[in-house]
Amino acid sequence: MTGGENSVIEDFALIHDGKDIIETGKWSELKNNFSGEVKDLGDVTVVPGLINAHVHLELSHLRGKTVQGKGFTDWIKSLLSNPLYDLDTEAVQDAVKEMRVSGTAFCVDISTRNCAQVASIMDDLGMGFYACCEAIGIQPPKEGARFFPQKEYKYGRAAGAGHSLYSTGARILQGVKKADNAAGLPFPIHLAENAEEDEIVAYGTGEFADMLKGAGLLADCGSKGLRPVEYADQLGLLDESTLAVHCVRVSEDDIDTLNKRRVNVCLCPRSNTYIGEGRAPWELIIESGINTCLGTDSIASNYDLSLWNELEYLLKNIEISLPAAEALALVTSNSAKALRIDDLYGSLEKGKRPVYATVPPHLEDLLF
Ligand SMILES: [Zn+2]
Repeated sequence: MTGGENSVIEDFALIHDGKDIIETGKWSELKNNFSGEVKDLGDVTVVPGLINAHVHLELSHLRGKTVQGKGFTDWIKSLLSNPLYDLDTEAVQDAVKEMRVSGTAFCVDISTRNCAQVASIMDDLGMGFYACCEAIGIQPPKEGARFFPQKEYKYGRAAGAGHSLYSTGARILQGVKKADNAAGLPFPIHLAENAEEDEIVAYGTGEFADMLKGAGLLADCGSKGLRPVEYADQLGLLDESTLAVHCVRVSEDDIDTLNKRRVNVCLCPRSNTYIGEGRAPWELIIESGINTCLGTDSIASNYDLSLWNELEYLLKNIEISLPAAEALALVTSNSAKALRIDDLYGSLEKGKRPVYATVPPHLEDLLF
């Protein structure tokens, strides 16, 4: 059973008051001084509550409604053929409940239109969160407008996110990043996700570029033949509070840059496969020492929102062997560090949130 950073404790027990962890240790020792309700989980492996570092809950009504395996342009066309932004409250509630049942205690949600509503739903259901208002488009916000609402929530905070280099103006991305940094929040951005992005960032061309242009969303990336990571670096978007999501199409030089800038990487393996974008060089990214975590992405590009299933997919396909602690860190401690919430999440220690998950039996063999 997992207690503090990467440590395994047999006969593990956790004492909490509903809000904070009061004490952890071996039950045989703790029970002598404990009186209160006891919940015996049986012979299971307990881990810290899982953290989903990338999801779009406003798309929760789109399960099974998009094409699979045909690449990003076809996927986005099928996405846009659906009603997108009238929030289906019930679908979002069901998605949050599904995440909780599969052990997720915290998520980074990205919303284009419904940030405040999704935040309220997560708050009501006790899901820890960053509700990120995603900046997309090239029109600068009106004078005095903020990148995200400054509302108080019980279980989370609002934050800003950038959609991507190709769909969001450079000055806007820099503004969101600055606002997140000033508030001590992470800055998530989809980065190096697909071939379409490569072409737009480098040359401003392609079918997808034409679609974006038609919608008034094509950002001027300078057409200097740069790779997405190079361009993001040039814009000053890469540092230790950046959460670069996807990183499918990164070269060894790109990985060096991300590492040097201490960027956190969120991999979304099943989403990339679902869309047909290929897969990130997981092995190189993880072995480089980059702080790496996992996200499911939205149900519009995945089969479910279970991080256990995400981890299982990664472990079954990755070509290096990951020790259990390193594998589990991808959905717990690494994510907590990336999101700057490691004072409350990511390990089961005194003072942190009493949220935990148990390893599903079929994953025990894969992990241990
Ligand atoms: Zn996404």
